[in-house]
Amino acid sequence: MPVIVPFRIARSRTGLGLFATHSIRRGTWVVEYTGPLLPNAEATKKEDIGARYLFEVNNRWTIDGAPRTNIARYANHSCKPNMESEIVGHRVFLRAIRSIEPGDELTYNYGRDYLRYYIPVCKCAHCMSITKGRGRPTQKKKNGKANGHANGKANGHANGKANGHANGNGHR
Ligand SMILES: [Zn+2]
Repeated sequence: MPVIVPFRIARSRTGLGLFATHSIRRGTWVVEYTGPLLPNAEATKKEDIGARYLFEVNNRWTIDGAPRTNIARYANHSCKPNMESEIVGHRVFLRAIRSIEPGDELTYNYGRDYLRYYIPVCKCAHCMSITKGRGRPTQKKKNGKANGHANGKANGHANGKANGHANGNGHR
């Protein structure tokens, strides 16, 4: 039986984004964040020379989500997202946290650290609407450079509760 992929890649306000093509119910696992697993030390080196799409899954491993086959990398950040990331073992899934209608952009929160280091002025729909188009300046980092990978750190809470969903959710 063919699996319906309920989204497509299309142009968004800030570049490419993922957009729902079907209604997606709250709680649905939408897409997996895929890519080679790198030891964290190696990921940090890559990050230092400008690599993006690094998603730290635990204190040893990071997913390098740069390959274009990683459809989830097209999901943009939002401060008021409709998905959240959950880490299941060494895998990362994006799951709907509210009901999503066809045409809605699929977003998740990249986390405070990522914003602080990479997005000086947040241009997500939420921030643009509250500031009438100027975006919301994210907090400036006081000194030093970013440590580790913003994504993973922000999602450390996902580990425990994600475990119950590891089996039988139909991915792959
Ligand atoms: Zn925002």
